[in-house]
Amino acid sequence: MQIEPNRAAAPWAGARDMLDRPGGRLNIGYEASDRHVIHGHGAQTALRWLGKDGSRRDISYADLSRLSSRFANVLRAHGLQQGDRLFALMGRDPALYAAALGTLKAGLIFTPLFSAFGPEPIRTRMEIGDCTVLLTTEAIYRRKIAPWRDQIASLKLVLIVGDEAPEGCVALGPALEGASNECEVAQTDEDTPALIHFTSGTTGRPKGAVHVHGAAIYHAYSGQAALGLSPGTIYWCTADPGWVTGTSYGIIAPLVNRVTMIVDEAEFELERWYGTVERERVAVWYSAPTAIRMMMRAGAEAAKPYDFSALRFLASVGEPLNPEAVIWSERIFGQPFHDNWWQTETGGIMIANTPGMPVKPGSMGKPLPGIEAGIVSQGDGPLRELGPGEIGELALRPGWPSMMRAYLHEQARYDKCFRDGWYLSGDLATRDADGFYWFVGRADDLIKSSGHLIGPFEVESALIEHPAVAEAGVIGLPDETAGEVVQAYVTLNPGHEPSEALERELRGHARKRLGAAVAPRAILFRHTLPKTRSGKIMRRLLKARELGLPEGDISTLESDET
Ligand code: ATP
Ligand code: MG
Repeated sequence: MQIEPNRAAAPWAGARDMLDRPGGRLNIGYEASDRHVIHGHGAQTALRWLGKDGSRRDISYADLSRLSSRFANVLRAHGLQQGDRLFALMGRDPALYAAALGTLKAGLIFTPLFSAFGPEPIRTRMEIGDCTVLLTTEAIYRRKIAPWRDQIASLKLVLIVGDEAPEGCVALGPALEGASNECEVAQTDEDTPALIHFTSGTTGRPKGAVHVHGAAIYHAYSGQAALGLSPGTIYWCTADPGWVTGTSYGIIAPLVNRVTMIVDEAEFELERWYGTVERERVAVWYSAPTAIRMMMRAGAEAAKPYDFSALRFLASVGEPLNPEAVIWSERIFGQPFHDNWWQTETGGIMIANTPGMPVKPGSMGKPLPGIEAGIVSQGDGPLRELGPGEIGELALRPGWPSMMRAYLHEQARYDKCFRDGWYLSGDLATRDADGFYWFVGRADDLIKSSGHLIGPFEVESALIEHPAVAEAGVIGLPDETAGEVVQAYVTLNPGHEPSEALERELRGHARKRLGAAVAPRAILFRHTLPKTRSGKIMRRLLKARELGLPEGDISTLESDET
């Protein structure tokens, strides 16, 4: 199905007008950097970079504009052309951000990968994406790429961050030195491909979703509407650009809205995070349930010494946000984490608890203005919209500018996402009478037990209300009489040890909260749960391991202990 973006009177029309779009063209790299310099804001800090070693560096919009132009010129000097594909495989370094914008300014397609991927996931993605240029570090190159580099036929250039490069690669430092600060921005339009994002691989083999330059319109809009970004906001998105959140809302939305964004090179560490929010006076913070649950696990005491008074808005994405986490954050930060829902495919936030909206803990919120969502019946035949309280597939009417335009090399899979004028998300949800949406589970994760439809999220949320439980993953196991039975895996908070008595207590707690039909039949203790590198619990893996079935694609698996 061809996506025809709604160009007329959509609520994002204002965001389109906010962008310069010289000559009616649109280029994300230009709109995120050069535009601000032209309008006199070059001196504003675009990016405050916090190094692992405690160093701190400010990069202004003028710096970003210059550095990205130089990067674009380096690409062109090596004969690269519009439509070529640059893969970035490096940590959260300022060079990554300049390279992202420079790639887009040169008209190449930017594809960020998580730098902790092993050689095999990198290689398959480079093959699927016909990688033309790779930007990486010397250490990553030597360890993960060099042994098979020659087998990627499309690869023309390897750029290495720093002043030196192994044989057959180009050192970025000297190349940038010799490049001009001025670059002619590529002639891209709203429909020109700009980015490829691979999905998280939670439910199976990752798909490569293609996004266009016009997505910036929706990023500009939703940055304001869903996160409350405005010029000068101090904003911290904790996601890595290797995932769609770290690009859509960790590069594009903040920069087109001219915020000052915090970029932390390091991974999650409790004191570091709390200290960063306090010291940098972070006003808008966008994070994920896994991180929030880690904060909860550390307890309220750990948060006490810090001043969080600059925080104005907190948001969360990527997984269902348990009601307990919403209530906890209200207590600790003086306001709740606001859950929002979207996917790699949608390119931007679709359903959200927006600034100023009363939060119902456990709900994902409401569709952003301009987004038409529905809960539709599953199964064959024409799709039927369901009423309040009914469980069905979460669907959206296509037409917003950041919607994917293809799954790379998977036309049939892409086409299957569209039916009867709806885009089908693959997630199950319900809508209540007030129009709030509630996540139930992935379509694949739904448990059918003795005639009941059970969403794992509901069971997991009940379990983590118990003071002993830090995280929970819930699956259905085949059962002759019930069809399926519910089984839970939990990790424990500090100070609690696995025991039969605790298992009994947790089952009792769940029965009280959920009723006997929905409560888990068995609860197993684990040190960690299998998760994707973007922090999502991989329930399919819990199930495959329990049943001794093949594990399927585990290229994004982070922790390997169940
Ligand atoms: P794959 O499609 O490869 O299995 P994935 O769906 O996890 O991986 P992403 O596009 O990164 O890849 O994640 C989007 C999915 O994450 C959504 O479809 C949904 O299942 C889940 N998700 C995102 N935000 C929320 C949320 N606020 N509440 C519940 N689930 C969410
Ligand atoms: Mg998905």
